[in-house]
Formats: sequence, C-alpha cells, structure tokens
Amino acid sequence: MKMKVIDLIKGDKPTLSFEVFPPKTWDKLETVKATAEKIADLKPSYMSVTYGAGGSTAGFTADIAEDLLKKGVTPISHLTCVSSDEQKIEAELKKLQDKGVENILALRGDIPQGMSKDDMHYKYAYELVKKIKDFGGFCVGGACYPETHPESESAYADIEALKIKIDAGCEYLTTQMFFDNNILYNFIMRLLKSGVDVPVVAGIMPVTSASQIKRIMSISSSALPQRFVRIVDRYGDDPLAMKQAGIAYATEQIIDLYANGINSVHVYSMNNPDVASKIQQNLSEIIK
Ligand code: FAD
Repeated sequence: MKMKVIDLIKGDKPTLSFEVFPPKTWDKLETVKATAEKIADLKPSYMSVTYGAGGSTAGFTADIAEDLLKKGVTPISHLTCVSSDEQKIEAELKKLQDKGVENILALRGDIPQGMSKDDMHYKYAYELVKKIKDFGGFCVGGACYPETHPESESAYADIEALKIKIDAGCEYLTTQMFFDNNILYNFIMRLLKSGVDVPVVAGIMPVTSASQIKRIMSISSSALPQRFVRIVDRYGDDPLAMKQAGIAYATEQIIDLYANGINSVHVYSMNNPDVASKIQQNLSEIIK
C-alpha cells in the first residue's frame, strides 16, 4: 500500500513491522522475493529492505521493495551513501520514485576498510537525508543507537549528531537492536532531555540460534543481559529449543515496550517467515 511510514508510526495503533535483506547474487533473488512475500502475507504495518553497503546487493533493494508494494504492504527502502556520489544517489532516488516507493531509511553505511573520510563524498547520513529531502517526495527515517554508535566519542556527541540529522529532515529514528529494554528507556529519556522528539521505532532481533548471537556480537556492541545469556547457554545447542526460547524472549521484550508506550516495533526477522509469523501470532490480541 502506498503510504508514508511517518503517518503509520504517528497513529494511535501500535505498529509491528519486519525487515528483509536482499541476496548477494542474482540466482537467489527469486527465493528472497518469495520469502519477503510470505512475510508480507502476514500484513505487517510495513516492511523494510536493507541495502548492501559495498553496493553488492544494492540493485535488488528497490526490486524487492516494489514487489512488496504490489503485495499491498508499505515498503521502506534502505539507502546508504558511504560509497556513493551525488549522481549515483540521484539515480537511486529516481529509480525508487519510478517504482512508487515513498519511504527511505537514510544511512551512511559502515566505512569500508582502507577508505579514509577524505575519500568520501558523503561522510555522514545527515548529508544523504538533506539530499533526499531536496529531491522531494520521500518520507525519510534514520538510524540511532541506544548503546551509542561505536565511532562516537560519547553518548552525548552521538545525540548531538542525531539532532543534526533531524534538522536535515529525518522524520523518525529506528534503533539498533538491543536486548535490555531499560537501555532503550534510558536512551529515550536522554533524547527527550536533548530536545529530540521525533518518533523512535524500537528494533528487536529475535535470536533463534547460537551462531546468530556470535554474528550479532561481531557486528554490534549490544549488551547481553544475564537472563538472555542463560537462555543461550542452556538452549544454544538445541536448535528447536533455542528458536522457541528466542521467539519468546523477543515477544516479551515487545509486549513490555508496548506496555511502556513505545508504539512502534520493527522486527529484524532475518528473512525468516516462520519467526515473523510466530511473533505476530504471539501479539495478535495486542496489536489488533
Ligand atoms: P550517521 O548517522 O552518519 O552516524 C555515524 C557516526 O557519525 C556516529 O558515530 C555519529 O554520531 C557520527 N556523526 C553523525 N553525524 C555527525 C556530524 N554531523 N558530525 C560529527 N559526527 C557525526 N547498513 C547498511 O550497510 N545497510 C543497511 O541497510 C543498514 N540498515 C540499518 C538499519 C538500522 C535501523 C541501523 C541501526 C543500522 C543500519 N545499518 C545499515 C548500519 C549503519 O549503516 C552503520 O551503523 C553505520 O556505521 C552508521 O550509519 P548511520 O546512518 O547511523 O550514520
């Protein structure tokens, strides 16, 4: 459905949305599209499609987003700028516009190894946000980090940088995954104290295998509460039990978030329709 995501997350109804990521090669595109369609069949509030930082899977993001639109689900296309220039970004925006995609999560992307800031046309996401806003017609969101972005000198500096992104036109923020809701509540308090009042969408990752947690720890600095570590220690070697426990943990986190007034939750569903479906079923009365 063609809709601006800001209108969905500003509404009274709680939102539950899912993320998919594109494949690395053409031969997997149809499989990923079929997976995304299965998740779309759940009729989530919206879905997002990630974007490959090095450009390797970049072409597929818009295709999958267009597919979701055809399935009747509002898509967000992620877009990174770290390896891009004005011309490439304009081409991406034109492509999204032609496909009818109206929502972009504007990201910088991780700086590729060996690249210095002097080589980068876009150094920060706020420059991309500004570019998209100047182009016109898109609802633009951005990323935020309840446990502080690893490049930031301090939590304070990270929030000051967020304010620049919001002034550039970023309409809402989606968080990096976190496993302890108190971390999010503290972060939101700090945002409000700093005068940031755009909606914050909580990003939740259901951890359904022990290998996944190792990967998460290598890409993010999310703190793991003891309660969570005990679950992985106990069930990590039993795939079905770990999946059940991981879905239950994520469900509990989401219920607590809604109960505490966080109205929008985005699930990093890792191209897994079964996990997305079970989480949605667990919340069926809560999000109706
Ligand atoms: P920025 O907002 O630019 O922040 C990066 C760093 O620079 C931070 O430390 C910030 O404090 C600092 N900073 C920002 N602006 C300024 C300023 N004006 N002055 C000084 N310092 C500043 N990566 C992908 O490759 N593809 C994806 O699809 C993708 N999706 C994501 C979705 C979410 C919800 C999240 C949380 C992350 C996602 N990422 C994705 C990862 C993201 O690209 C990396 O974390 C990247 O390192 C930072 O991107 P950003 O947009 O947050 O950057």
